[in-house]
Amino acid sequence: MSTIITDVLVIGAGNAAMCAAHAARESGKKILMLEAAPKEQAGGNSYFTAGATRMTHEGLHSLKNLVEPDPRHDRTVVPPYTKEEYAADLAKVTNGNNDPQMTETLTSNIAEDIRWLKSKGLKYRLMYERQAYERPDGSYLFWGGLHVGNVDGGEGLIRDHFAVAEASGIEVLYNARATRLIESSDSVTGVVFDQDGEEHAVHADATVLGSGGFEASKTMRAEHMGSEWEYAITRGTPFNTGTMLEEALRLGAAKAGDWTSCHATQWDAEFENNESNFEVTNRLTRQSYPLGLIVNRNGQRFVDEGADFRNLTYAKYGKEVLLQPGAIAWQVFDAPLRPMLRPQEYEVPGVGEHIAGSLAELAEATGIDKDGLIKTIQEFNDSIDTTKAFDPNVKDGRVAHTTPPKSNWANSISEPPFYAYPVTCGITFTFGGLKGDEQSRVLKEDGTPIPGLFACGEALGGLFSGNYPGGSGLAAGIVFGRIAGRSAAS
Ligand SMILES: Cc1cc2nc3c(=O)[nH]c(=O)nc-3n(C[C@H](O)[C@H](O)[C@H](O)COP(=O)(O)OP(=O)(O)OC[C@H]3O[C@@H](n4cnc5c(N)ncnc54)[C@H](O)[C@@H]3O)c2cc1C
Repeated sequence: MSTIITDVLVIGAGNAAMCAAHAARESGKKILMLEAAPKEQAGGNSYFTAGATRMTHEGLHSLKNLVEPDPRHDRTVVPPYTKEEYAADLAKVTNGNNDPQMTETLTSNIAEDIRWLKSKGLKYRLMYERQAYERPDGSYLFWGGLHVGNVDGGEGLIRDHFAVAEASGIEVLYNARATRLIESSDSVTGVVFDQDGEEHAVHADATVLGSGGFEASKTMRAEHMGSEWEYAITRGTPFNTGTMLEEALRLGAAKAGDWTSCHATQWDAEFENNESNFEVTNRLTRQSYPLGLIVNRNGQRFVDEGADFRNLTYAKYGKEVLLQPGAIAWQVFDAPLRPMLRPQEYEVPGVGEHIAGSLAELAEATGIDKDGLIKTIQEFNDSIDTTKAFDPNVKDGRVAHTTPPKSNWANSISEPPFYAYPVTCGITFTFGGLKGDEQSRVLKEDGTPIPGLFACGEALGGLFSGNYPGGSGLAAGIVFGRIAGRSAAS
């Protein structure tokens, strides 16, 4: 077995690992990254993202030094997003199960840390196509607290990270899957990794786990979250199999966060290659459901599609679909609603889509129970509070008083043609991780750190449970990655 020696070893090459590597490299230390994927599939789930990054700010004027110029800025309103609002959103969607210290660290640091990345060469923009609807007068109002994203989405994020790493002399080994943590006198001193069937060792003063969650392991999903999770489709990288989490637990690391739940969304059920697809990445997600209805095979609704802004409900509705008969559902829209669906998702060539002139024909085309579908839509249409005007930029209170209710954006489904988009459950990432302290050192059950071992990104648990506010995965990776890298280097 050959042995490599470095100062700081970083496992993974996604957003969190990269932030750790950049931060550690600022100290002048020698940094080595091990990436399980081949070079052309490197970057973890971070590559699959839209680059959406939830950050605090004081409105558009305060973002001008961060985002790329855009001619639409003059007619755009971006409501400020405060630290308190960020913390409140985290608490709201996790039912208060977000770790208070981690929440404080995230919400206090993200605005500065994202500018740190910009200073290194990463590029950001306002996400018009995801987070604002153009109003009739040509103006834009951003909504939902999630406003900023990477230029060219996750692909741009990873491209820029690798460029910064290369320019600063960080070494990356590909096809290099860490399989075992090496321990010496109760400290972690490196890892054993497999590359092209051969085992090698790395010895390092500090080892940072940026190796993601366990969402790509069907065995671990079933073990921690329930057997139904075997049937979920992996949305992102197939390389996050939880090996390093299990290794850290073997050495006595404490678990943190919610190991029984995960981020999962509605995902195209009929697209031919709908698992870990590096070409279409996040575009198989189906996120315009707040405009329409979601029904199961019996034609029944099972969630409040308009409960809140999409960013605050989408990550928990994948599970609701998984629990339906056959783990399938359909998003239903009519002719006036169809032009409002996000073209980046609903117009991908090969998208699962059924179009029909009547609800009965739609039922026949999809296999949804005809009587159930017609009854559900009839009851829904009859229950809409039409005294409120429809406005997708705000929670408009246009309620459908049916069961379950639709709390906002209720529009009748009545004008043909009718559209149905088949969705199943796509698992994004798992919420359970390792317990860390304020320096991102991995802690044991007794609260003492495991010397030499740090964690960041999804490998670190504690922020999310049951649900998640969109854009906080990348944000957490930035903040805790930077902390882990700095700590590891010192
Ligand atoms: C389709 C999709 C869209 C998303 N969109 C967004 C979004 O717009 N905004 C947002 O905030 N979040 C989004 N997310 C969630 C986001 O991807 C994660 O929160 C974030 O990327 C996690 O970063 P990370 O660095 O911890 O993990 P990852 O980016 O997954 O990186 C983990 C790395 O570890 C490597 N690895 C794993 N095991 C090993 C091993 N044993 N040895 C060596 N390497 C290993 C992997 O190959 C990978 O390089 C999305 C996720 C998906 C799948």
